[in-house]
Amino acid sequence: MYSWRARSVDTLGTRRKINIMKTEEVIELYNSFVMPTYRQDPLCLVKGKGIKVWDVEGKEYLDFFPGWAVSGLGHCHPMVTLRIREQLKRIIHIPNNYYNPKQAELARVLSKASLGGKVFFCNSGAEANEAAIKFARAYGYPAKYEIISMKDSFHGRTLAALRMTGQLKYQKGFGPLPKGFTHVPFNDLKAVKKAITPKTAGVIIELIQGEGGINVADKEYVKGLRNLCNKKKLLLIFDEVQTGMGRTGKLFCYQHYGVEPDIMTLAKSLGGGVPIGALVARKGIADTLKPGMHASTFGGSPLVCSSSLAVFRAIKEERLLSNAVRMGQYLKKRLEELKSKYKIINELRGLGLMLGVELKKESSSIVSQCRERGLLINCTQKRVLRLMPPLIVTKADVDKAIDILDEALCDWKN
Ligand code: PLP
Repeated sequence: MYSWRARSVDTLGTRRKINIMKTEEVIELYNSFVMPTYRQDPLCLVKGKGIKVWDVEGKEYLDFFPGWAVSGLGHCHPMVTLRIREQLKRIIHIPNNYYNPKQAELARVLSKASLGGKVFFCNSGAEANEAAIKFARAYGYPAKYEIISMKDSFHGRTLAALRMTGQLKYQKGFGPLPKGFTHVPFNDLKAVKKAITPKTAGVIIELIQGEGGINVADKEYVKGLRNLCNKKKLLLIFDEVQTGMGRTGKLFCYQHYGVEPDIMTLAKSLGGGVPIGALVARKGIADTLKPGMHASTFGGSPLVCSSSLAVFRAIKEERLLSNAVRMGQYLKKRLEELKSKYKIINELRGLGLMLGVELKKESSSIVSQCRERGLLINCTQKRVLRLMPPLIVTKADVDKAIDILDEALCDWKN
């Protein structure tokens, strides 16, 4: 069992005894001092390594939903922690009115790996999408400012990203929200065509809706969107906050479709665990936002850029994209076996290591049953179990997770 106390070592290398609180004590502190904005499970984590995490009492868990896709390489990947440690010794933050070599380097890597244009850095997915909205409005200014987004989409919690999100439950109670957004059904090209007005500036889509229940966009639909945007001179924006950085077996999900967007937003696993967001715009439009039009104090600091550069390097050197493809196929195959065993499973959806198991009835209690047995997964839209293990996942990890899920489904059904 992992012993937190025994391994607490201070900067001089001296072992120190630290009084670590128990889970109930931490929950008590939260109840008194942290705003209750999250629905939380009674789990208090203190350590992570690879695909495993440990709670404060020393119990080990297999993490098949690491940080809601933030820890895409697993927890504390050695290349990431090494680069962070090295950068910490030099400089942590450089304001954006000066030049920062790490930001320039990361922008080059990101541009060359995707749209070949330029990058704006921020700190989260919502911020990246806010930047995309401002970009589209600046591009269309003054005539075009409306954005078409999809029903069941999720783009973040800031006011405009929230308005763009196609799930009204998140918007309730926060009006009036910014104007200029229309939602249309997912995978329905005719609906997009119908929603276009002379004021439309762009269309945004997640190629696989994550929070929406792992809904995968059809190839013909995405090609149709590209043609439509070309014809009507609209910006096509892909929100790859959840699907990006190898999650689906390609570095970016759009690479499965043979279609490039004009703009792509990224966050989550881009930083290997540290907060970073990015807006990438293709050549030809990338200079739309001029000095003073948009900014972020923390955006693209040397610390997060060093971490992100390590993520790119690890994906390449450890061949994690092919691992994601192989392990994704294996996980899908094992889930198919469960599907033939349990009639309660309605459908399996997803690509690479972004998989959803839709059940025929509400299934959130399965998540706690798995957790009690040492497996962390998620449930979205009440009925869709979400499995998104890190890109480093092995066959043995998949087998262990499937065994636990099998037991949980068996108990739940009875
Ligand atoms: N876009 C997508 C597709 C997401 O899944 C999320 C978060 O889950 C966001 C945007 C918002 O990201 P953040 O929570 O970093 O603001």
